Amino acid sequence: MMNYACSFSECKNWCNYTCECDNTGKGFCEDHLSLHISTEGKHDIKKNFFSLTIDEKEVFAAQLEVSLKKLDSIREKMSKKSKEIIEKTIEKTKESLDCIRKKQSLIFKVLEFLRQNDRIRTKSRQTKVKNFIFNYAKNPNDYYDKLLVEESEIIETLDLEKKKENLGKKEEDLNIRTFDFNKKFKKSNKKLKRIKASVKYLNEQYELIKKSILSEISMTVYNLEKLNLSYEFTNPLKKNINSSDNPGIIYSEIVDNLKKLTDQIILKSFNLGEDFSKLQKYIDDD
Ligand SMILES: [Zn+2]
Ligand SMILES: [Zn+2]
Repeated sequence: MMNYACSFSECKNWCNYTCECDNTGKGFCEDHLSLHISTEGKHDIKKNFFSLTIDEKEVFAAQLEVSLKKLDSIREKMSKKSKEIIEKTIEKTKESLDCIRKKQSLIFKVLEFLRQNDRIRTKSRQTKVKNFIFNYAKNPNDYYDKLLVEESEIIETLDLEKKKENLGKKEEDLNIRTFDFNKKFKKSNKKLKRIKASVKYLNEQYELIKKSILSEISMTVYNLEKLNLSYEFTNPLKKNINSSDNPGIIYSEIVDNLKKLTDQIILKSFNLGEDFSKLQKYIDDD
C-alpha cells in the first residue's frame, strides 16, 4: 500500500506531489514541496492527483449522459437490424429447405418410374419426371454439377461474411475500372490534343498551297493580259512594237509556268493527302 501522507515528519497533509530526485519517490504536501525544492538537487516533480474544476466536472458529466443515450440508441438499432437479419435468414432457409425437399421428392419419383419402366414414349405427355429423365439420364453428372453450383449459392446467401467479401470485391473491381477509364480518358485527351495540332498544321499547309496557286494564277492572268496587249502591238495598223514583248516568247513562258504550277499542285496535293491519311490512321489506332 502506498503511503499518501506527506513525507515530512509530523505533517498529516496529503502528498499532492512526488519528487524523484533521490529515486525513492518521496511525497510532499503543497507547503513542504516548496521547502523541498529550495534544497540543492535535480528535482523531478510529478503531480499525484488529476483534478477537475466544478465546471469541468459538470461538462464532462453532461457529455457522458449524451453518450449513454447514444449507446441506448445503438442497442435499439442493433437489435432491430439483427431481428431483420434473423427473419431474412429464416425466410431464406425455409425457401432453400423447400427447394431441397422438392428436388428430393422429384428424384424419388424418378427412381420409382425407373423401377417400373424401361422406356418412355418420346411423344407422350411431358411431366417433370419425364423431363428430368430426358435431360439427365444420359449425363447424370450434369445434375450433380448443377447441385454443386446451387449449394454454393445457397450457402453464400446465408453467409454474411461472404456477402461482405463479395461486396468488397465488387468495390475493388469498380475502383479498377474507374482507374482504367481515367487512364484511357487521359490518353485519349492527349491524342485529341495531338490531332487538333495536326489538323491545324494541315490547314496551314492547305492555306499556303491555296495562296501560292492564287499568286501563280494572278501571275498567269497578268502575262495573258500582257500577251493580249502585245497582239495589239503586233497589229500592223499599230506602230511602236516593243521587241521584249514578243508574243511567242511570252506565250511559251506562260505555258511553262502553267506546267510547273500543275506539277507543284499535284505534288503538294499528294503530300497533303499523305498527311491526311497518316492523321486518319492515328485517329483510328487505339
Ligand atoms: Zn507536509
Ligand atoms: Zn526533490
